[in-house]
Amino acid sequence: MQSIINFEHQFTELNAFQFGETKVKEEKEGKTHLLEQLQTTLDLEKLLSIFAKEASKYADFSGLYFKKDDISASTPGSSRGKAERQFELRANNEFIGLLTYTLKKPISLSHFHNLKALHKLLVYPIRNALEYKKAMSLAMQDGLTNLGNRRYFDEQLKRAMHHANRHNHHVGLIIGDLNKFKAINDTHGHLVGDECLIHLAKKIKLCLRRSTDIGCRYGGEEFCLILPETDEAGAKALAEELRILICTEAVKHQGMTIDLTVSCGITTYKHQAECTTDSLFDAADKGLYLAKENGRNQVQVYDLNELLYPREQEE
Ligand code: GH3
Ligand code: MG
Repeated sequence: MQSIINFEHQFTELNAFQFGETKVKEEKEGKTHLLEQLQTTLDLEKLLSIFAKEASKYADFSGLYFKKDDISASTPGSSRGKAERQFELRANNEFIGLLTYTLKKPISLSHFHNLKALHKLLVYPIRNALEYKKAMSLAMQDGLTNLGNRRYFDEQLKRAMHHANRHNHHVGLIIGDLNKFKAINDTHGHLVGDECLIHLAKKIKLCLRRSTDIGCRYGGEEFCLILPETDEAGAKALAEELRILICTEAVKHQGMTIDLTVSCGITTYKHQAECTTDSLFDAADKGLYLAKENGRNQVQVYDLNELLYPREQEE
């Protein structure tokens, strides 16, 4: 990238004036174009990429990162380095987040001011993107347990199957259901029932250790756990752990002690071409049915192939 500052010294006063005018015009056009482009998306990564193009006129950097609380984003291919420059993004007095450049070269003073001016154009699109992200995650969350809701489950199961196909991995699916939950509601009331659901959700969160594992409330007292890159043995071990956690630690509520148990059905997927999200769910549900039939408080595996390729009925 050519430095505009070096250019300035080569011109006569008149030329410098004309050059200055051209430079101001270019900067103005760049800003207008950037502003237009920043209106085209609510995706944080895309916003950063659009912004990085314009910012690269003023700074030589190998990475651009944004962070606000637990939300972070970066431009594709960003790499961390020792020379970092961090900027606080603010909309009036509101803190929007931190923007960090990994610099290849130091930023000159004039370019520093140019960057600061560009940041002013970035703050509101970023704030909108953060609000959008928040609204989307609320729309995908179960209000009582804070786990994913059914819509989130449907989306994530599809995504996990795509990912498994691409990388030739397994996906484990567990469906858990509280046993005799109606009786708990009838005996202790609906609020206590809700406490039991929250208790189960907390234990599910404890069992999900990988950041890629997903816990959802499918509906009522039925919960689903999506386990990417997990085979049958792994899914079974996790379901057993959950089952034991639930039956060994009673729920305590206003002096009452409520014993809970859970039944789990499991299935695993690995590149069965005929399998849809519905058939994967059905197979795990059949496992759950077996667990209930066999006396509850247990984990049962159902082989997806049994459902996809049922053996001919013997005459
Ligand atoms: P099983 O062992 O066969 O699963 O029996 P169960 O009693 O758990 O199952 P059943 O389907 O008969 O009853 C489920 C109960 O779950 C009935 C319903 O009122 C209750 N339920 C569903 N959603 C909620 C909720 O959000 N809060 C509370 N407290 N109860 C709920
Ligand atoms: Mg139940």
